[in-house]
Amino acid sequence: MKQVAVIGAGISGLAAALALAEQTPDVQVTLFEGSDRVGGVLETIHDGRYLVERSADNFATLIPNALELSRRCGLESELISPEINNRQALVLHRGKLLPIPAGFSLMQPTRIGSIMSTRTLSWSAKLRLLGEFWVPRRAVDEDESLESFSTRRLGRETYENLVEPIVSGIFTADPATLSMRATMPQFVEMEQRTGGLIRGHLAARKQDVAAAARRASGARYDQFVAPRQGMNWWVNALAQRLPARSLKLNTRVLSLRSLAGPTPEVAKTQATDAATGRAWQIETASESLTFDGVICSAPAAITARLLSESLPAAATIVATIPYASSAVVAMAVDHNELRGRTDAFGLIVPRKEGRQTLAISFASNKYPARVPNEQLLLRIFLGGALSPETVELSDSQLIALAHTELRDILGWTGTAAKWQAVMRWREAMPQYVLGHLDRMQQLQQQLATFPTLKLCGAGYAGVGIPQCVRGGEQAASALVARLNASGLE
Ligand SMILES: Cc1cc2nc3c(=O)[nH]c(=O)nc-3n(C[C@H](O)[C@H](O)[C@H](O)COP(=O)(O)OP(=O)(O)OC[C@H]3O[C@@H](n4cnc5c(N)ncnc54)[C@H](O)[C@@H]3O)c2cc1C
Repeated sequence: MKQVAVIGAGISGLAAALALAEQTPDVQVTLFEGSDRVGGVLETIHDGRYLVERSADNFATLIPNALELSRRCGLESELISPEINNRQALVLHRGKLLPIPAGFSLMQPTRIGSIMSTRTLSWSAKLRLLGEFWVPRRAVDEDESLESFSTRRLGRETYENLVEPIVSGIFTADPATLSMRATMPQFVEMEQRTGGLIRGHLAARKQDVAAAARRASGARYDQFVAPRQGMNWWVNALAQRLPARSLKLNTRVLSLRSLAGPTPEVAKTQATDAATGRAWQIETASESLTFDGVICSAPAAITARLLSESLPAAATIVATIPYASSAVVAMAVDHNELRGRTDAFGLIVPRKEGRQTLAISFASNKYPARVPNEQLLLRIFLGGALSPETVELSDSQLIALAHTELRDILGWTGTAAKWQAVMRWREAMPQYVLGHLDRMQQLQQQLATFPTLKLCGAGYAGVGIPQCVRGGEQAASALVARLNASGLE
């Protein structure tokens, strides 16, 4: 029986471990988790009548891996869609809340009418935006920042009023540093293939109206689902499908060592320990164990530390992946204490509005059963890549800040929330900065010399839950293929 270790029981590691167990009965999986629970950043607070997600509150289904995993584990019937009403998002514009134009998806204009009638853009910005049709495709074939791509194609004002706050809201990131190719490759490909975003939309519509609608949309609310009982329930239910005794909670991996190092024809046959025939040694506080293969799904900084002894060059690349911090204040307030509009799933705030808030999610408009009827659950996202110091404020400072923001942005007239909690996310959101894909290619070259070691997790190929599941599953398949091949040699 081959022994495989998976390091980290966030959603990436859980998906990898489940895929290993599903794919082959010849592999015994050990899933090491440093904390006392599975799920990593996914965590739910249950407090009386309140169900509040500390991080993700739903996941997309367009990349189907998280949905498919739920199906295979018999959990699909427990997934719910967001409420039908209020399926729109607002943007703060000169202190007023306005709907994001219905025909503007992430950064793609798809409905001329709604763009012409929006009050979020001046007339000159609208004309510049429609002029995207005639902007030539980019000739040079190198990475470009998200800010550069969207100002080049759509104009400065559209970038500042719409694209920048949408991106900051999703990635808590500075679009001037983000790699367009790594974060929104679909638009780079569209520009190259069709000549631009409007042309891309028209071409897709010609081909197939339904497919066009899907492609045009970055965030259509009917393409999201959430576990009815919250993310904790979901990750625990997934963990219960693991083979008995494979999960080791409270077991931090302290070191990872290749037992014999790469040989000259390493890509084909990684050397193994003569006594056990195994390639890897893992140490925890209480034991030292050997494994035929390892999947590491820990965050990049920890993975870099673990790799530093046996794969220093790979460790150096992994260590360059930056993570942003943010703070979230969750507050349940009475509907009748809010004077501003709340007929949406949330709002985003452009940097030029000069506020501390990145976005506010109206969480109970999406999933109403999670708080008492007369209340609205708000999650106020503060900080992000552009103001990393916010996360260091004390709880009372963050609450005071959230209260001020709520008064100014949503006309909150109350003095105390019915329920509130502060959540800090230190170095929790990976940032795919310029050159990310090139660095990932170099990383793959380094890892090729150790074919029984695979990496997965939010730091590499997508931060969303479906991408993390996909990454874990791909790592598992590649490792199983490698172990099967070496078994035949
Ligand atoms: C505030 C916030 C909101 C988000 N909202 C959404 C959303 O709405 N939808 C969406 O799809 N995505 C969302 N995301 C992104 C998504 O939730 C994460 O990218 C994803 O859950 C990360 O999973 P992971 O397994 O890669 O990493 P993690 O969740 O970080 O898991 C890593 C695990 O490794 C463990 N570990 C670390 N070191 C060791 C060690 N040495 N030994 C053993 N174990 C170790 C950790 O304890 C942890 O459990 C959000 C993220 C944040 C922070």
